[in-house]
Amino acid sequence: MTKKNIFVVEDEEDILELLRFHLSREGFTVTTAASGEEAVKSVSRKIPDLILLDLMLPGLDGLEVCRALKKDSKTSGIPIVMVTAKGEESDLVAGLELGADDYITKPFSMKVLIARVRAVLRRRRDPPADKNAPIRIHEIEINPGRHEVLIKGKPVEMTFSELRILHLLASRPGWVMTREQIVDAVRGEDYAVTDRAVDVQIVGIRRKLGARADCIETVRGVGYRFKEQE
Ligand code: CA
Repeated sequence: MTKKNIFVVEDEEDILELLRFHLSREGFTVTTAASGEEAVKSVSRKIPDLILLDLMLPGLDGLEVCRALKKDSKTSGIPIVMVTAKGEESDLVAGLELGADDYITKPFSMKVLIARVRAVLRRRRDPPADKNAPIRIHEIEINPGRHEVLIKGKPVEMTFSELRILHLLASRPGWVMTREQIVDAVRGEDYAVTDRAVDVQIVGIRRKLGARADCIETVRGVGYRFKEQE
């Protein structure tokens, strides 16, 4: 198998070197850039398999880099993992809505970072779930076609919006979804869901999930995530 190429954008030299060292040791090829401008230029020259993108960069910041790469059809498909400091939640939300795949908050452990990188690369190989595909995860079965949710084989009543949101989250376990992304995904199907109403829907879904309510995790200041399979 050819080595996966990870492109690291980071202006702090010691962090950059640490990332280079650990990613190389894990069998990745590592290319780097210390500024946003440099990143946009070299990424479009040679497409990497994944970009680790520091959000706080001098000049062109991480969010602008993300926007530029997602706007260009040549680079829009490259998975992006944002690297952020605490307190940058609004940038995180903006980044996820621009199409970044995941994020990690500084200070991070190398073990967690590598796991996150591998998870994003792995998910990219899986085709996205069909909107009506039945899903079975954590003893929960969701069958949109039959408008049916079963928990440990027992049927649970859900509204259309609740079922759609649950199906959306469960179809991408481990992925953080912002409220906006949830609204976008269920809108246009005549289910009245607004940004703010997503929280209310989640409360309803959790109540109905009962003992499995912990499957839907709140990501503070960002959105929601369905727990990955153990
Ligand atoms: Ca930085």
